[in-house]
Amino acid sequence: MSGGNFDVIIVGAGFAGVYMLHRARAAGLSAVVIEAGSDVGGTWYWNRYPGARCDVHSLEYSYSFDADVQREWHWSERFAPQEEILGYIRHVADRLDLRRDIRFDTRVMGATFDADHARWTVTTDAGDSLTGSYCVMATGCLSNTKLPDIKGIGDFAGPIYHTGQWPQGGVDFTGQRVGVIGTGSSGIQAIPCIARQASHLTVFQRTPHYSVPARNFQFPEDYIADWKATYPERRVQARNTRVGVLHDFGSGTWDEADPQWRVEELERRWIKGGNNFMYAFTDVLENPETNREIADFVRTKIAEIVKDPATRRKIMPMDYPIGTKRLCIDTDYYATFNRENVALVDLRSEPFSHMTVSAMVTSTGEYPLDALVCATGYDAITGSLNAIAIRGRDGRLLRDAWADGPRTYLGLAVAGFPNLFIVTGPGSPSVFSNMVLSIEHDIEWIGNCIEWMRGNGVTTIEADEDAQSAWVEHVASLAEGTLFTQANSWYIGANVPGKPRVFMPYLGGVDTYQAKCREVAEHGYRGFHVGKAR
Ligand code: NAP
Repeated sequence: MSGGNFDVIIVGAGFAGVYMLHRARAAGLSAVVIEAGSDVGGTWYWNRYPGARCDVHSLEYSYSFDADVQREWHWSERFAPQEEILGYIRHVADRLDLRRDIRFDTRVMGATFDADHARWTVTTDAGDSLTGSYCVMATGCLSNTKLPDIKGIGDFAGPIYHTGQWPQGGVDFTGQRVGVIGTGSSGIQAIPCIARQASHLTVFQRTPHYSVPARNFQFPEDYIADWKATYPERRVQARNTRVGVLHDFGSGTWDEADPQWRVEELERRWIKGGNNFMYAFTDVLENPETNREIADFVRTKIAEIVKDPATRRKIMPMDYPIGTKRLCIDTDYYATFNRENVALVDLRSEPFSHMTVSAMVTSTGEYPLDALVCATGYDAITGSLNAIAIRGRDGRLLRDAWADGPRTYLGLAVAGFPNLFIVTGPGSPSVFSNMVLSIEHDIEWIGNCIEWMRGNGVTTIEADEDAQSAWVEHVASLAEGTLFTQANSWYIGANVPGKPRVFMPYLGGVDTYQAKCREVAEHGYRGFHVGKAR
């Protein structure tokens, strides 16, 4: 059991916590990071499932704050696998000598603000009690895993894995009958790999997802050299895009484009692979007609790949607009269902009944299993924050303040919770952007804010209730003009029973968001109340 008094307490040692520690040190602040895992990496520490890899170009999904690290690190593939990204974050932690200020294997349980002394007290499951002037929640948007609530799941004798809590040494499914629940990004990456190893794989699908091919490749040396020669310019360009990624952004709507060019363009993007597919036209997520054209194109591709008519019918996404649940990027996902050892169960026509010691039972069938994989996702964006008892001014719990949905100012701060900062919080672009780029922005904003406070004798900073309400309304109004409200996605909390249906990310674009944050800072942190020591 140990404590300590710090300037900054940081929760989480993923991409965000690692950089926040470095930024705090650069400002001459004492800082500590508390991390539940045994190493740095966050998402990339926990998600070791087979096939796990990023779907953002690796040369972009990396820190830009340190020119030496940026130049030295060698990315090997277009979409880096989990182990390479984890290796990268570990390298950064070592290179910047960060580990000595990170407490691993320790989970934060509570954080309480003491208004009299303007300090946060953070408590952990190890019995630690630490105090800090500022508390930074670097807890990640997709950290709080969700297991399915299936009757009798506890009776199952085989192992049950969640993709987001994968065992350290990996899992060998050779010769086993495996069930996978979930066909989102994690399931779609894991399923082809598990199918190649298991004797039989049963995929339990509730909602068919749209997926486009990754077309991953190993980088040729000259590709990397060229990229690195122009890295600084590329980083600036990326910050000036909607999503913080150098996609090939189309400039017009579907209607404005020549009919023959439209189809050729979609074909070109399908062949190129990756998320770029969604950016051919500017109105894909606003105009239902455009969206239907893009979805039809993908459905045609699926129909060409999946051979069995019954499987094809089940796997076809039909009842929500493409892109309104996170678009998946795959390698051989649809073709996997042509394998003899793979079966697809449509849970909409035969819902789960219960589990026995050795099988999954649905309303019409029984599926013998040796192991079960749950690719069932997360209580996203707010889950990891609400899991901590965060008490602000007057002892109010954050999860109570957010009972009707999250309320933040800029996604970075919450009224009633002074000196608490959230990295990529609800109301910021977060999951609608290159996460690493958004993390860097948020941390630089927080670091600059703390430096400004200290330079101006300011001891507390707190979002104003009205400024926060205006921001919450702005975030909601951006989502209302889109098709996003039509899908039961985790963006909107629909995957967690009882969670308020509120669209959480900021859709105004990374470029606009960052300009707004800059403006707030330049105007003396407009929309915040600041307090000075008496
Ligand atoms: P997810 O997108 O939320 O998918 C979860 C899947 O499990 C869905 O198919 C869901 O069905 C199903 N499911 C959940 N509860 C269920 C239940 N009780 N019974 C039956 N099915 C159930 O989670 P994820 O795949 O872990 O991905 C989460 C996010 O992580 C992604 O959207 C992405 O942002 C990120 N991610 C990225 C990558 C990448 O970069 N390539 C890889 C993995 C994850 P419904 O759709 O019907 O809810």
